[in-house]
Amino acid sequence: AHPVRLSVQLFPYADGRMLLLARDVTALEQADAMRRDFVANVSHEMRTPLTVLSGFVETLQTLPLNVQERARYLSMMAQQATRMQHVVEDLLTLSRLEGSPFPGLGEWTPVKTLLRRCEEEARALSSLLTKHQQRPHTLQFPSADVLQQAGEIAGSQSELQSALSNLISNAVRYTPGGGSITVEWLPQDDGTAVFSVRDTGVGIAPEHIPRITERFYRVDRSRSRETGGTGLGLAIVKHVLQRHGAALHITSTVGKGSTFSVTFPANRLRPAAQPALAH
Ligand code: ADP
Repeated sequence: AHPVRLSVQLFPYADGRMLLLARDVTALEQADAMRRDFVANVSHEMRTPLTVLSGFVETLQTLPLNVQERARYLSMMAQQATRMQHVVEDLLTLSRLEGSPFPGLGEWTPVKTLLRRCEEEARALSSLLTKHQQRPHTLQFPSADVLQQAGEIAGSQSELQSALSNLISNAVRYTPGGGSITVEWLPQDDGTAVFSVRDTGVGIAPEHIPRITERFYRVDRSRSRETGGTGLGLAIVKHVLQRHGAALHITSTVGKGSTFSVTFPANRLRPAAQPALAH
């Protein structure tokens, strides 16, 4: 059982009776603790790149550096600034998602468009990350035929795009060169459809799985950072999917790989528009 926190107040009446008011403030206190944690996390995330940045500024100011050395420092400074920009952008995305009601009712997004763009982004990211390695990733996406049949999802195209892309880019980022990433669109008999991303990457230990959608939760900080992570990607994914009535399911084996599957409910899907028949 969870402890319950009560706030108790006593109000005496003139006739000697008392009114006792007890309020359950458990949820309030939890929300407060979460807010404090969050502020601490954000501050920590910003402090590290800021410390590095001011260190570089100091070096530039005090050491007599030649042109190449200066250029190298400036490029490392630009990297830190970019990192902070990404954290701030992701934070703004999260707060926008939390603060606004469900968007895009009446908006229909073709699965084909979503997955084509995901594929372009995944290939670009993969070649960037495996540039210096001999072995590229093997990326598999649904065939043109499957995509043609896949139909449309009710909801915001930009939100869905960022959520699905995020899952795929994680698969790329957490899979060493030579591994493979398989993306599928699987319509089910009950009218739902499953989007799945399977990788042969580093995998996630069972105790971490329930927590990886929390803000700033990372299993391996250095890998997250090296591949441009903010620790907010899956928190954004979770929000977007919730808003679209979709469920995220994660299975993984350390050293073997992970599968992230998203089930879209039948009432948010509709078949592909049939080409108009000629009369
Ligand atoms: P990050 O920017 O750190 O990748 P995310 O919110 O996208 O943040 O993911 C949180 C953590 O979940 C990651 O730091 C990583 O440890 C783990 N993770 C996410 N996707 C995968 C994956 N496909 N394989 C292994 N670990 C993953």
